[in-house]
Amino acid sequence: YRTKEAIEGVEVFIADKDVFYYWTVKAPLFDEDGNVSGLIGMSTDITEQKKLEQQLENSNALLKSKIDEITLLQSTLWEQATQDPLTQLFNRRYFNEIANKEIIKTARNKKPMALLLLDADYFKKINDNFGHAMGDKVLVKFAQIMMDECRRTDIVCRYGGEEFVILMPEASQDIAVGRAEEIRENYQKEITKILNNISTVSIGIAMWNNNLVDLEGLTKAADQAMYQAKNNGRNQVVVYSEESNN
Ligand code: GH3
Ligand code: MG
Ligand code: MG
Repeated sequence: YRTKEAIEGVEVFIADKDVFYYWTVKAPLFDEDGNVSGLIGMSTDITEQKKLEQQLENSNALLKSKIDEITLLQSTLWEQATQDPLTQLFNRRYFNEIANKEIIKTARNKKPMALLLLDADYFKKINDNFGHAMGDKVLVKFAQIMMDECRRTDIVCRYGGEEFVILMPEASQDIAVGRAEEIRENYQKEITKILNNISTVSIGIAMWNNNLVDLEGLTKAADQAMYQAKNNGRNQVVVYSEESNN
């Protein structure tokens, strides 16, 4: 017994299948010469406390693993709820949700905003001539072309089938037309030329203004412009104007 001070600590006793924990204090006893001749001690049974502590640790570990599981599940669910599985672009439901928020912001800030509606021309022929899997590949490539051309603040969405929309907050008409032309040209470079000139892309653009203040109005206008592009011979960009569409 080397120390001349009292010591304290946890003692563990194993008896048969039971484990006991004690909080123990041991103090030295001294003889006349000042040497330690023995010990006097006192123990408190803390087995219940120890068991509760262990239970708590186990529950905490379980809780943590459950939280990790839920977090993973949440992000998977969020992706499923917001994304198109083929292209990873936003889906229509989520687009509507965030586009409405952007439109409210635009109205408040008095900034310009463009909505583009893009529809692949003669897409059915890609499926017919090269197979559905090739059609899927083209859609993924098309999505990539759009993403490459857009800014981080633009919202790119697969609206359905071979139809896409892009909301461009703070984009003037010139900028929106410029990006649309780039997308149209890149589609030609990367897809039209490779697939026997079968498919091109038609794009309708609607600019936010006092007469087109909500998503419904903007989408309708962009849709009209897109159909005008189709009727004019496809593979082109048309901006909606009230004179030609009233
Ligand atoms: P238009 O120039 O008038 O737009 O002609 P189009 O052939 O593109 O138009 P239509 O709406 O007649 O056909 C669209 C085609 O797109 C039909 C459909 O099979 C195909 N399509 C839609 N979604 C998918 C998809 O997820 N994968 C593939 N491979 N094809 C798709
Ligand atoms: Mg089409
Ligand atoms: Mg279509």
